[in-house]
Amino acid sequence: MAAQETVDHKYVYDFAEGNKDLKDLLGGKGANLAEMTNLGLPVPPGFTITTEACKAYLATGRQPDGLAGQIEAHLESLEREMGRRLGDPDDPLLVSVRSGAKFSMPGMMETVLNVGLNDRSVIGLASRAGGNDRFAWDSYRRLIQMFGKTVCDVPGEEFEHAIDDAKRAKGTDNDLDLDADDLRGLVDTFKKIFAKHTGREFPQEPREQLDLAIRAVFESWNAERAVVYRRQERIPADLGTAVNVVAMVFGNLGADSGTGVAFTRDPGSGAQGIYGDYLANAQGEDVVAGIRNTVPLEELERIDKKSYDELLDYMARLEEHYKDLCDIEFTIERGKLWMLQTRVGKRTAAAAFVIAGQLVDEGLIDLDEALHRVNGAQLAQLMFPRFQLDHEYEPVAKGIGASPGAAVGKAVFTSARAVELAAEGEAVILVRRETNPDDLNGMIAAQGILTSRGGKTSHAAVVARGMGKTCVSGADELQVDVPAKRFRVAGQTVSEGDVVSIDGTTGKVYLGEVPVMPSEVVQYFEGTLDAERTDDPLVRAVHRIMTHADAKRRLAVRANADTGADAARARRFGAQGIGLCRTEHMFLGDRRELVERLILASGDQERQQALAALLPLQREDFVEIFREMDGLPVTVRLIDPPLHEFLPPLEQLAVNVAVAQERGEDVAKEEALLAAVRRMHEENPMLGLRGVRLGLVIPGLFAMQVRAIAEAAVTVVRAGGSACPEIMVPLVGAVQELETVRAEAEKIIAEVVGDSGVEVLIGTMIEVPRAALTAGQIAEAAQFFSFGTNDLTQMGWGFSRDDVEGAFFWRYLELGIFGISPFESLDREGVGRLVRIAAEEGRAARPGLKLGVCGEHGGDPDSVHFFHEVGLDYVSCSPFRVPVARLEAGRAAVETQGSDSR
Ligand code: PEP
Ligand code: MG
Repeated sequence: MAAQETVDHKYVYDFAEGNKDLKDLLGGKGANLAEMTNLGLPVPPGFTITTEACKAYLATGRQPDGLAGQIEAHLESLEREMGRRLGDPDDPLLVSVRSGAKFSMPGMMETVLNVGLNDRSVIGLASRAGGNDRFAWDSYRRLIQMFGKTVCDVPGEEFEHAIDDAKRAKGTDNDLDLDADDLRGLVDTFKKIFAKHTGREFPQEPREQLDLAIRAVFESWNAERAVVYRRQERIPADLGTAVNVVAMVFGNLGADSGTGVAFTRDPGSGAQGIYGDYLANAQGEDVVAGIRNTVPLEELERIDKKSYDELLDYMARLEEHYKDLCDIEFTIERGKLWMLQTRVGKRTAAAAFVIAGQLVDEGLIDLDEALHRVNGAQLAQLMFPRFQLDHEYEPVAKGIGASPGAAVGKAVFTSARAVELAAEGEAVILVRRETNPDDLNGMIAAQGILTSRGGKTSHAAVVARGMGKTCVSGADELQVDVPAKRFRVAGQTVSEGDVVSIDGTTGKVYLGEVPVMPSEVVQYFEGTLDAERTDDPLVRAVHRIMTHADAKRRLAVRANADTGADAARARRFGAQGIGLCRTEHMFLGDRRELVERLILASGDQERQQALAALLPLQREDFVEIFREMDGLPVTVRLIDPPLHEFLPPLEQLAVNVAVAQERGEDVAKEEALLAAVRRMHEENPMLGLRGVRLGLVIPGLFAMQVRAIAEAAVTVVRAGGSACPEIMVPLVGAVQELETVRAEAEKIIAEVVGDSGVEVLIGTMIEVPRAALTAGQIAEAAQFFSFGTNDLTQMGWGFSRDDVEGAFFWRYLELGIFGISPFESLDREGVGRLVRIAAEEGRAARPGLKLGVCGEHGGDPDSVHFFHEVGLDYVSCSPFRVPVARLEAGRAAVETQGSDSR
């Protein structure tokens, strides 16, 4: 029965059978080709082998039963439709074999063109092309080159060197000067290269070519660079790729043929208009590889008006249909336009906001959809600074602003060197003539990417945009010499290690370091740029979408801030309170001495004196923050880190004492300090005497802080202001700890507050796994919970916060044990489960219990969605992340609309 099912399983879909919603099964490319076919656009006929076939192949190492027969049947119908047969020596059908996963991975997966050519059919192709021998031999050498490289791992440079040799022999540096004889010679050389590396002849049987190419696409799913890209983009590793087999059309049949890439709007700025590149007499990979210089798409109007008009019409139809920016690959074969690919196009962060706003204006989407189309990572990117330019900085070159932002770093010329220097903490700019997928690791490591060749659609540009990295491409004044590790520009030489600055918005390249200034989006959040008055389309779009996010979100957003200045900035950025005021920094600086006195106190009285000296200082700290927040809730956390963190390091102190003793100086005080530091030394201080434990061990410490908080609130209220303090106890693991602290705190509060009307809540952090698991008990004593997901991650995984990221996370990421550090994005299944349990059991014990989160995850886009789902009341994050959290909270609300019962 099982075997029967496998045989019957449908693994191959004709383009006419699919549609754009079948991306899981047909991959993005296949689903969109099907959609265009059904829209009546001129797509070359073909079929798609499903991702399920790929998964089955990867699981067993062989094609699933039934696949070969289905391919055969679809091939036959393709042959019928085209009136040509694969391998026919007189008039061969040629096909391309392209990968197409659910998410596009530019340059990651493989393509083989011209499958079906061999020593005999190359002659037939030449006669079909009107005796164009050059074209036929060029097509054949492309097949051997691509097939060799992508299917059989023949080193690509060997083919490239052979082309260079042929050009040198001909005395030219232009591929187009190679004639049919030269190319026939190249085919011979290529075949030898192929045989040398593979130990076999280049396969002459078209069906074998096809099967090997399909298998290579399947296998490329697990190629190292694909794995790196997926991890980087958080794409699940088990989706598999589909394979598209498409009848070939040719853009390299002469001046009336060509190929190009088009965008329905500018993917850089979002501006409306015609954007793209066109290359006459060329095949598609020539454009994407950026090997030859393209002309702007508008030129096509002059070259071939009919095709141009048709293309514009299709672009309008696609945009109308997809209701979004589309990018398109097309080929013109002898004046006939073919649509080879479309997809909802990648865009810069700025373009994402601007286009979403435009589409609302055009009535194509509503504001909910606009909100869904942008994200917090993009917003964060727009908050990066830009170059501060005045006439002192003259660019030395201008390329294409391929991916915006301002990047400054040392020039490096290889991916490996970029990775090396970045690991040493250096900012680097990867400079290449053009990039290819082998440069991926270097691109990830670099601050920015600079290339001397290639347009907005070159590999460097597309990949950098996807990563949100600054990129200038096609700066053709640069003479890049990779082996010599330098480039020359404007009569100057820039060697490895020299600093360059690149502007990915304008495409300008500067030597040396250019200072940077804040983004206009930050100025808008700061309130120095008025969205109603500016004509900056980005700021207007951000304002509009943020306003909608605020209207839709259920989660409140607070900030982690512990100074008046931070609190003020957080408010400007839209914070609705402070979710975490860490008090430890208040014990540093010139207050260290008081802390030393506290620690060294030999009895109650000395300790009380030290605490009494700290009290007014603490009170002032809180007054300042309460004033800034003026009635918004402020969660003040009682001191958390181990006390010895406020003392000098043991080694340094020991040396100082030894030296002073040597000199015969009076060291009684230092010796006492040293003894205290030794006494307090812990092997695992993060698991030691800190948080509530410290509060229970050092009499009067928490009491002093509670008093300072209550007195500060009363001071502010008596001065006509408003204050809503929430006292938070850190590191609680058992309800008894909280009860003890609370009993003392309530007495002090009652005494201080009197009839002032000030109300002080007392709650706890949930950051120890035991607290999460006994949340029902703890809730009896807590008026609120705030999840400390930093510690909860540390203790949930047993990962030392301070050590593991540098020590071994790289390996865990490499192995895919997790796709992103759990300190950065909440581990939903493990740590998230603790949060869920605590939220549910806490609320069951105390209905309406206020719940928030104040670990770093509060500002992480993905984690914000989780906190929305779990039903927290607020997230709290660093002030700069507040807008990101507001946006993501809005998106989470819109995305769960209808299913959200809360
Ligand atoms: C936490 O543990 O998540 C937290 C917010 O506290 P801290 O980072 O100060 O330990
Ligand atoms: Mg903590």
